Amino acid sequence: MSDRIFLSPPHMGPNERRYVEEVFASNYIAPLGAFVDRFEASVREFTGVKAAAALSSGTAAIHLALRLCGVKAGDKVAASTFTFIGSVAPILYQGAEPVFVDSDESWNLDPLRFEEACEKERPKALILTHLYGQSAKLDEIVSICEHYGVTLIEDAAESLGAIYGGRHTGTFGRFGIYSFNGNKIITTGGGGMLVSEDEEAIVRARKLATQAREPAPWYEHTELGYNYRMSNLLAAVGVGQMEVLGERIEKKRQIFREYQAMLEEIEEIDWMPEVSNSRGNRWLTTLTFAESDPMRVIEALEKAQIESRPLWKPMHLQPLFKGARSYGGKVSEDLFSRGICLPSGTAMEQGDLERICEIVREAMR
Ligand SMILES: *Cc1c(COP(=O)(O)O)cnc(C)c1O
Repeated sequence: MSDRIFLSPPHMGPNERRYVEEVFASNYIAPLGAFVDRFEASVREFTGVKAAAALSSGTAAIHLALRLCGVKAGDKVAASTFTFIGSVAPILYQGAEPVFVDSDESWNLDPLRFEEACEKERPKALILTHLYGQSAKLDEIVSICEHYGVTLIEDAAESLGAIYGGRHTGTFGRFGIYSFNGNKIITTGGGGMLVSEDEEAIVRARKLATQAREPAPWYEHTELGYNYRMSNLLAAVGVGQMEVLGERIEKKRQIFREYQAMLEEIEEIDWMPEVSNSRGNRWLTTLTFAESDPMRVIEALEKAQIESRPLWKPMHLQPLFKGARSYGGKVSEDLFSRGICLPSGTAMEQGDLERICEIVREAMR
């Protein structure tokens, strides 16, 4: 009996446990502590961004970004429709209105649709997802944002380490966010990071994330805050994970290349592309079938104790967002109906990949 193969399980490096033991020894389990500072510094060094705040989740980071952009009840916020709920739920937390924008052939946000949405809706901000670790068309999107005065927030939850034009995704917008949820390319067991070139904004984010406590000996509050900071214990795991991030990216890219090579003879498979001038982290290997039923493949893998999944169901199709404004939609709907995510864990072995490809081939017949 072999063990279950998960989609993208945690993969610890050599030092995480040791750092956690250091935290235990110091008893700075929480709140905050030296590892939070070290974790923030390591993300800054890796991505080249100026300022970073470690938070309890990627969703919390997006929520703070919206708050700091001044998004409030009644405002419109554009967002990639082809994404995960954590990307857009904070729009509702703020009482704002989402304006969903479809994908193009890159699977990521379609700049033309976005421009149309800007013309008609005048959104205050855009939440741009870099899906499955591949960069969106940043040049076009950044210039549309500048032209219409839309504040760019990059949801780089899945794309930590992905590069566009020599720069890290997450560092193009006024804010970027990363996630360290359990299945991301690296994990703290749950966590996120808000990054920005604006150091003052990050200082403000830290305040809002700690109940917006004012500097006074007692607990003084003049504005609404949240309990969104990351604990020192989890940051210790993050420091260890950052040490292996480079290796994890190479391994994810290698897994993608191996799937491609092993399934090369199957003409009806299309892989998620990488836009020009970019280098994704291939967080998950994703593909679409021209003809075959993705659910049949997913079920066949499941029978062999192998986890795979459909692509994200677009937000404009979600009952939660019934009646929401949406620009286009057919491209992401089509991808959703034809695509799957293959297991992409960085600790997988060659034999696992071969077995998965064999089952995929069988199920397609
Ligand atoms: C994981 C993810 C998030 C949210 O991150 P959490 O840390 O789980 O809150 C947001 N957007 C996308 C695209 C994600 O994949």
